[in-house]
Amino acid sequence: MKEFNYYQPTEIRFGQGRVDEIGEVVTRFGNRCLIVTGPPSPEIDPLRKKVKECLIRCGLEVAHVDNVIPNPTTDVVSEGAELAKAHNADIVLGLGGGSSMDTAKAIAVEATHEGTAWDYLFFRDTQPTEKTLPVITVTTTSGTGSHVTQVAVITNPAEKNKSAIYNSIVYPKVSIVDPELMLTVPKHITASTGFDVFAHAFESYINPNGSMYTDLMALEAIRLIAEYLPSAVENVSDIEARKQMAWADTLAGLCIANSGVTLPHGIGMAIGGMYPHVKHGEALAVVYPAILRFSYQHAPKKFATVGRLFDERLNQMDDRKATERTCKVIEEFIKNIGMLMCLEDLKIPEDELKTLAEASLVLPDYKSHPRVASLDEVFELLKQSCRGG
Ligand code: NAD
Repeated sequence: MKEFNYYQPTEIRFGQGRVDEIGEVVTRFGNRCLIVTGPPSPEIDPLRKKVKECLIRCGLEVAHVDNVIPNPTTDVVSEGAELAKAHNADIVLGLGGGSSMDTAKAIAVEATHEGTAWDYLFFRDTQPTEKTLPVITVTTTSGTGSHVTQVAVITNPAEKNKSAIYNSIVYPKVSIVDPELMLTVPKHITASTGFDVFAHAFESYINPNGSMYTDLMALEAIRLIAEYLPSAVENVSDIEARKQMAWADTLAGLCIANSGVTLPHGIGMAIGGMYPHVKHGEALAVVYPAILRFSYQHAPKKFATVGRLFDERLNQMDDRKATERTCKVIEEFIKNIGMLMCLEDLKIPEDELKTLAEASLVLPDYKSHPRVASLDEVFELLKQSCRGG
């Protein structure tokens, strides 16, 4: 049996209606809270109002930074950190999707350390310390898994670079996962964030750094995604599908926190850094079909196992046939949830693919892919993803 480590310090409070516990949770960690959210929007305003009122009723002094954008930038983090310092915040609450939760983590670092959050990326010699403010998360998408990870993804527009703080100190102390909060997520965002959940579970499962523990969770997440993501996309107010996807997101987050992601995320992060208008889930879905075809022969048993979770007819096939068929089955799934697209659809210029290929190999994720791609091979994969077939 393979040896493994597994670490997860976040207290998870999962279930419908549990956002009502936010006041009790936050008061455990301090009296002065900075709430971090996206800009006002009719869908989420009632939730933000409810959370704020709840905190104030519990005696907390609240400040609110509400300018987080998808693919959140270093500027947004710095503004939030300034406010955290001015408010003398002793706790940061990320309320929203991965962008708000990651911004909360990065603010918790920047508000308490010299320089900016960008100075504390995963590869730097200087790392965030115990001074980092405690972070609480309330996730409103399913999702990035950020509510249970030690990762804060931020984008530096000046460098056109998307990178991450990766340190145990930014694990949220408590995460509330209330599926009711996801009922307002529109169809396309349900599909793109849901595809991100699949990518996390799949890349954890095929990752050589995976373990028996993460494999167990990854396969269960994939089973749930195959069954419930199409229903959540089809009927965004299907609460049962929302619950199952919130659980799949949590499982997949626990997986990536312990085994990591692979080549698609390397490319997806590069796309997000160079083209911030592209949603994270879109950046992944657009390259998945080509990457699956490039990879399936290098993890045949695992591909076959995943394919069988999507289509039970693969149980009648031998592993070799099932493996090959899995590429098609996942591509059909991507199409079924409305995420089959090409780089051209996302307005990514073909003459920048060489630079994009280079940027895709900056993060180390690609090294954990079952077939380690060269620069030329990544360029080829991008060319294959360029136009719709
Ligand atoms: P997001 O947070 O950017 O949100 C996408 C959009 O959905 C926004 O416009 C937001 O306002 C809206 N939205 C969110 N919740 C909603 C709700 N309940 N109702 C209606 N609208 C809602 O999207 P995301 O996919 O959750 O996060 C993406 C970010 O997370 C990227 O930067 C990605 O790189 C990062 N990420 C982080 C980790 C990690 O472990 N930290 C893992 C994967 C991805």
